[in-house]
Amino acid sequence: MKSISQPSSPKLFSHLYVEKKVLEHPQTIKMIEKFDRSHVIVIDHYKEVFNRPNQSFAAQSTAKKLILAHKEGKFLHNGSQYSDGFGFENFFYASTLMGCLYDCDYCYLQGLYPSANTVLFVNLEDAFAEVATHLSNPTLIATSYDTDTLAIESLTGQTIQWLEFAERYETLHLEIRTKSANFKPLEMITPNKRVTLAWTLSPQTIIERYEHATPSLDARLKAAKNAIDAGWNVRLCIDPVIYTEQFEALYVELIDKLFTQIPAHTLHQLTLGSFRMSQSHLRSLKKLRRSDIAFYPYSVKDEMVTYPEAIEARILETLLAKATQFIPLGKIRTWQRQS
Ligand code: SF4
Repeated sequence: MKSISQPSSPKLFSHLYVEKKVLEHPQTIKMIEKFDRSHVIVIDHYKEVFNRPNQSFAAQSTAKKLILAHKEGKFLHNGSQYSDGFGFENFFYASTLMGCLYDCDYCYLQGLYPSANTVLFVNLEDAFAEVATHLSNPTLIATSYDTDTLAIESLTGQTIQWLEFAERYETLHLEIRTKSANFKPLEMITPNKRVTLAWTLSPQTIIERYEHATPSLDARLKAAKNAIDAGWNVRLCIDPVIYTEQFEALYVELIDKLFTQIPAHTLHQLTLGSFRMSQSHLRSLKKLRRSDIAFYPYSVKDEMVTYPEAIEARILETLLAKATQFIPLGKIRTWQRQS
């Protein structure tokens, strides 16, 4: 490793690790200019930093580092059973970022990655070339599936590049999921009806307890409203629903608040779904011992962890009954375990 700058204190990402291979990539050059107050350290491969043994996910969560790297191999992965593919046979998620600025207690990334740091793959042109091979058929790509790309958009510009790419291909549909309040970078972009911006919403009490470093409910609703007003298709996702003693009051109040601020007819869709995860990711969460979410007595079926059937049914019934007071059932998507 070689340090190539000695800066003063930056606000975000005190250290920028850069693979030698991408030093001359235009995206890297832009990022280094943006991070003029960060220590830039040249490395051979991102795994030297990201996969280092004995890292503490919890400790790194409060002081994340950014790694710029070249992705070798596939960017696209088949959509998983934990998410909605909206009927597309071609449904993929794109992995152009590893890690997330936010720090949710229920996040499976804690079980997936050895580090809380963020890796940005700068060779997005290779991702686009891979996507293009699928576009003879309608294709849905979730560009923010195991990260939150909009949260980091002001630094990376990746979402805008995806939107420009999608503009050129009639068969390409994008879902951009976020908890960010950051709609500003997209304000100047012409809305594309094949793109859905999807905000994850939780009651403010749940945000404060489990979704650390994320924007407040009010800020998310404001960003979603701005996107709707600008002409974007917006899906609001009350998903994952976290079951607590106050579950009913909290989520009913959330739905009331949502539809007070966002007229139902302006909403593209509403998604409802309770917490679920793979059993192996839950095992990793338990080892970290950070949150009561990891220790709930879940039911397990085919490697998938969910709330016991009666609770899962109660969650869905409660939310559906409330939501349908405002929005037709046809606009509601629900996630349910397949029996
Ligand atoms: S916003 Fe999503 S990806 Fe980021 S920490 Fe939370 S659950 Fe994980």
